[in-house]
Amino acid sequence: MKEDLKAFMSIEEVSELLGVNYQLIYRQIRSGALRAARIGRVYRITRADLEAYLEEAKRIGAGVETACSVCGQSYRSASSFPGSCGECGAPICTDCWMRVGTRRCSEHK
Ligand SMILES: [Zn+2]
Ligand SMILES: [Zn+2]
Repeated sequence: MKEDLKAFMSIEEVSELLGVNYQLIYRQIRSGALRAARIGRVYRITRADLEAYLEEAKRIGAGVETACSVCGQSYRSASSFPGSCGECGAPICTDCWMRVGTRRCSEHK
């Protein structure tokens, strides 16, 4: 499958590739879970970023707990981590991101 991936893909292509709807991919991009380059009004997802996203999704899907980089609390679901550290990309949980408004992990604050 990897050989079929193009260097840059649109949201449409990624959603088709993964068999999910457009809105889901769009939301993943807006939440920062999936990295994408914004060119004018369209998004382009690189193959490397898509692969990184899928690795993360697999890890979380396997039930591996991820610890918040700010408070250390562990969660199983990717939706528990709406944000990530602006410096290193470490996951930040809903509590720290939404309620406290933290944008950096404990190492980079
Ligand atoms: Zn936290
Ligand atoms: Zn950090």
